[in-house]
Amino acid sequence: MYKADFQLVVDFVRSLYASDNFIPLHVPVFKGNERKYVLDTIDSTFVSSVGAYVNKFENLMCEITGAKYAVAIVSGTNALHLSLILAGVEQEDEVITQSLTFIATCNAISYLKARPVFVDIDRDTLGLSPDALEQFLSSSTEVRNDGFCYNKISGRRIKACVPMHTFGFPCRIDKIVEVCKRYNIFLVEDAAESIGSYYKEKHTGTYGSIGVFSFNGNKTVTCGGGGAIITNDNEIAKKAKHLSTQAKVSHRWDFYHDEVGYNYRMPNINAALACAQLEQLDLFIESKRDIASLYSSFFDHTNIEYIKEPDNTKANYWLNAILLKDRFERDLFLEFTNDQGVMTRPSWELMHHLPMYKDSQHGDLTVSEWIAERLVNIPSSVKL
Ligand SMILES: *Cc1c(COP(=O)(O)O)cnc(C)c1O
Repeated sequence: MYKADFQLVVDFVRSLYASDNFIPLHVPVFKGNERKYVLDTIDSTFVSSVGAYVNKFENLMCEITGAKYAVAIVSGTNALHLSLILAGVEQEDEVITQSLTFIATCNAISYLKARPVFVDIDRDTLGLSPDALEQFLSSSTEVRNDGFCYNKISGRRIKACVPMHTFGFPCRIDKIVEVCKRYNIFLVEDAAESIGSYYKEKHTGTYGSIGVFSFNGNKTVTCGGGGAIITNDNEIAKKAKHLSTQAKVSHRWDFYHDEVGYNYRMPNINAALACAQLEQLDLFIESKRDIASLYSSFFDHTNIEYIKEPDNTKANYWLNAILLKDRFERDLFLEFTNDQGVMTRPSWELMHHLPMYKDSQHGDLTVSEWIAERLVNIPSSVKL
C-alpha cells in the first residue's frame, strides 16, 4: 500500500534530476568562476588568510544581505562560537535556542561552558516560536537591577538567544527581535542555512545584532568549509575581525596580542571559491525555487504534506522537506527511498534527546517533537 505511493515519489525525483543513478540530498555545482578564482590564489601564492578574495567575499556578503559589515570566518560553527563571545556569553550563562537544530548551534554554546535552554518552534516556519519564547520568559524569568534577564528556576543569567532559520525557511524574526529587546537578551541569528532567504523583504541574519552563515559543502553556497558573521554594528565587526585573527594588534613587524584570540579567519583559497559561488547566488535560488514549485505541485496530488515557505517570507529552499503521517510511515519511507538510491534524511535528533543536553531546561516542545517524528528532507541540489 505504501510502496506504490513511495515509488511515485522516487520516480518523480528521478525525473526531476533526470538520473537513474544515486541521487544525493545536496551536492555543490561548480559551473562559474570557481576554477579560475581558485587557480588565481594558487598562482599568486596568496592561499591563506590574507588575500584579495577574503575582502571581496566580505563585500559580496554585505551587498547580498544588506548588512553594513561582514567578517569571513573558517566555518559556521566557529562563527557561532565567536558571535556568542561577542554577545558577552560567559560560563554558566544560559542561551535560549530551539531543540530542532543542527548540533553546531549547541556546540557553540557548550564551547563557552554556557547552557542551552530550549523553547518550541512554530509549525509553519520550523524556527523558534516568538510566542513560546515570550511565554517562557514571562513565566520563568525576571529582569533584575543590573539590567540582565535571570532565570528564576536556575538563577542563571540569560545572555543570548539563537533562533535558527530551518532549512532556509525564515522564522518570525521581527517578533523575536521585539521580545529579546524587552528582556535585554542579545540576539544572534543562526542563518547558516538561509543565504538568499528573506523575511519581509529583508535578508535573514540582518534582524539580530549578529547573523551567522555557513558555506559548508552541503549548503546552498559552498566554499569547501567557511562561515561569515554579519552585523550593522561597527564595534562588533571590528572585534569579530580582531578576535578571528589571533587578537593581533596590527603592526609591520611586532607580534603583540592584546587578548586571547582565535585562528578563525577564512583562508583566501576558500574565499575564492565562495566568491565564485556567491556570484551565482541568484541563479542558484532561482533553480531551487523552480525545483520547490515542481515538488509542491507534485505533492499536492499525494497524501504527503510538502512544506512551503511561510507567509511574509521568500525562502531559498535549501533542503526541501515533507511530512509523513507518523514515525512508522516516516521510517518506511526512509528505508524505501534510500534502498532505491534516492537519498532522504530525517530531521536532526532533537537536542534535548542527546546525552549532553538531556538535563537541559526546556519549555513545552510539542511542535518540535511532532515535526521531528514526521519530517524528511528530499533531494534538493541546484540544477544548472
Ligand atoms: C551548517 C550549520 C552550521 C554550521 O556550519 P559549519 O560551516 O558546518 O560549521 C550551524 N548551524 C546550522 C543550523 C547549520 O545548518
